[in-house]
Amino acid sequence: MFRTKFRVLRSHGIQYIKRLDEAALPEIFRGRPVLTDPAEAAHPGDPQNGDAPTHTAGGDDISGPGACNGSTTRPGMTPGELAALCPTGAITATPFSLDLGRCLFCGECARRAPHLIRFTNDYHMAANDRRALVITPQTTALTPDPDLVRREITRTFGHALKLREVCAGGEGSTEMELGASMNVNFDFGRYGIDFTASPRHADGLVLTGPFTENMARALELCYEAIAEPKLLIVAGADAISGGLFAGSPAIDRRFLDRVAPDLYLPGNPVHPLTFIHGVMALTGRPFTGKKRKR
Ligand code: SF4
Repeated sequence: MFRTKFRVLRSHGIQYIKRLDEAALPEIFRGRPVLTDPAEAAHPGDPQNGDAPTHTAGGDDISGPGACNGSTTRPGMTPGELAALCPTGAITATPFSLDLGRCLFCGECARRAPHLIRFTNDYHMAANDRRALVITPQTTALTPDPDLVRREITRTFGHALKLREVCAGGEGSTEMELGASMNVNFDFGRYGIDFTASPRHADGLVLTGPFTENMARALELCYEAIAEPKLLIVAGADAISGGLFAGSPAIDRRFLDRVAPDLYLPGNPVHPLTFIHGVMALTGRPFTGKKRKR
């Protein structure tokens, strides 16, 4: 009896990903999209075009009509048509750009115009400047800018960080992924970073959801209850921009007019590796599987 339990515990002990920086996500994962300059996409949809992807978001075969879950593919769609197609207005036609803070990662634009947009499996998408989330054909990578990080963040939270999560009207997916970052696989706690139930015990706030009116005062009280210095992280398209609910009278986002986030985490939901990499970069920690030496 005892030996059986012992084996289970041992197998759990070696389950965590030792080198997070070497973890690779499958191609089907929709991470940072890559845009192609419309002027360079000379032959839209032509598989001979060097910019054409070998796979589409979701792994759908786009080679013939009727693919893409029954919808007719239109490889010749223009940036203007894509802008009209996007449910959250994340795409701008001129100049051609895509706002990761609004993107739901539904993949529809990549299915309709693979010559202009394709999704990679790169989960490094965190930024500490809202404007950096608007990617263009020239964008090749995203990471928090160390020059924009407040000094007290790296000075105070470089070894230990407790976060309070507030779901302000979210549907639970990003909250679930944030919880998964602490599981036995990702084991975010190995770096001294963890979630706490009380804002009085927290060093920072992680906000998810589009900020419903009913939660507006609650999240403000929670933020005020955290002692200085503190940091603010907004996770997911709903929290960054309102997502599908942007403009709804049922949400109240005035909190962000008063407090500037220290970190933006795109995704819908946010992947645990996006979250872990973003927080590690913000607090000046090396993104590996090793614990930091004191
Ligand atoms: S993947 Fe993002 S940019 Fe493309 S249609 Fe969906 S929400 Fe819009």
